[in-house]
Amino acid sequence: MQKIRTRYAPSPTGRMHVGNLRTALYEFLVARHAGGDFMLRIEDTDQERFVEGAIDLINRTLEQTGLTYDEGPDKDGGVGPYVQSERVKTGIYMKYAKELIDKGEAYYCFCDKERLASLKTQVAEDGKTITVYDKHCLGLSKEEIEKNLSEGKPFVIRQNIPNEGTTTFSDELYGDITVENSELDDMILIKSDGFPTYNFANVVDDHTMNITHVVRGNEYISSSPKYQRLYDAFGWESPVYIHLPLITDENHKKLSKRSGHSSFEDLTEQGFLPEAIINYVALLGWSPEDNREIFSLEELIKEFDYHRISKSPAVFDIQKLRWMNGEYLKAMDDDKFFEMAKPYLESSLGDKFDLKKIAAKVKTRIEVFPDIEGQVDFFREVPEYDKGFYTNKKNKIDAAGSLSVLKDVLPLLESSDDYSNDALYAKLLDYATGKGYKNGYVMWPIRIALSGKMMTPAGATEILEILGKDESVRRIKAAIEKLS
Ligand code: GLU
Repeated sequence: MQKIRTRYAPSPTGRMHVGNLRTALYEFLVARHAGGDFMLRIEDTDQERFVEGAIDLINRTLEQTGLTYDEGPDKDGGVGPYVQSERVKTGIYMKYAKELIDKGEAYYCFCDKERLASLKTQVAEDGKTITVYDKHCLGLSKEEIEKNLSEGKPFVIRQNIPNEGTTTFSDELYGDITVENSELDDMILIKSDGFPTYNFANVVDDHTMNITHVVRGNEYISSSPKYQRLYDAFGWESPVYIHLPLITDENHKKLSKRSGHSSFEDLTEQGFLPEAIINYVALLGWSPEDNREIFSLEELIKEFDYHRISKSPAVFDIQKLRWMNGEYLKAMDDDKFFEMAKPYLESSLGDKFDLKKIAAKVKTRIEVFPDIEGQVDFFREVPEYDKGFYTNKKNKIDAAGSLSVLKDVLPLLESSDDYSNDALYAKLLDYATGKGYKNGYVMWPIRIALSGKMMTPAGATEILEILGKDESVRRIKAAIEKLS
């Protein structure tokens, strides 16, 4: 059997959109699952959309997510160059375009802007107006063409698609798709700057780079019959096509920048882990046989069967991703968690407290690192809070009861020198037993006094330990004053 070869073919136009990341991941998985090759090809022929630094961003993203490629700009596999602008220099696109001209499948077009503008425009499905070329230059004689070329008149090369008949191509998920040729326009293959269009380059490159499976967004479905005609014209076998469903936002609109979380970089900036992002993105359109949701990249490689990709749009649910990220944090090794949480802890608390202890407390309570501030802010300072917090049904305590407990424990805390959690816990338990109080009756008011919050990532004595004697005593005194 032929070795499976896939390619990720990004255009360096900015941040890595979640849709592009999914394409990269699926291409990677299709190859790895079958023991095949995964390639990176940079599609930079659209010079107007080129964004400085975008190639670095692509490389960094693939590195951070573990989508390693076997061949690419910096890893020659014998079918390079792997950057289209460098391929242009080899003359490969022009050579193949001329071959199509010889076969009558393409033609030179010298129409200027004015003439093109005067052509009737047609409204495309997405509301944009498109110009359908009228094949004017197909009627030029050989002599006229030669003359224009020798005079250096600017030209493009167009695909020649007959007005009659149909074209069929096949997609793994959608099956055979047949369109009327009259609906296909004579698209440009080579632009006036000598660069190929994506529409032409993708065919030439996928063939000459021995690509067997093409995974891409379903916005390419409508152009695929034209690509099929090119494969047929050359007598080449087309690759297996897998067109992926749309990714929408929570409002079922195409996921766009406006959502604030449409790119990999947006998500990492918001504190999401690359491995959680990859796991979540894997499920945007694909599902395993069981309901399992947590997958490492290794596990995805094992499980990923592209036949299980769905055709229905996938909704990007940021809450679900938050949940998933939280699962990754919980499972993370404590030291690694501390190392990653440290900058967030330091920005909230400086270096006043034992941050490692605090990290261990918040680890299971946050979904993303930026949640840390909301968990630990009270260590910095007790926020304004409502006296009503001291009333708690479960612990059968109210403000008056709280005041009396706090007055009792103040001297105990003042006289303690061992501020370890264990020692303090034993001491307070002793006091509770002596008074005939339930544990919670004592701990509740202390925790409120120390934190000003109903919910904290740590218990009363754990907070005492972290705050230390001076600060704890100061806070208990302030609470007594508040309640008095
Ligand atoms: N350069 C194209 C893009 O970024 C690639 C599409 C494809 O995978 O063929 O959308």
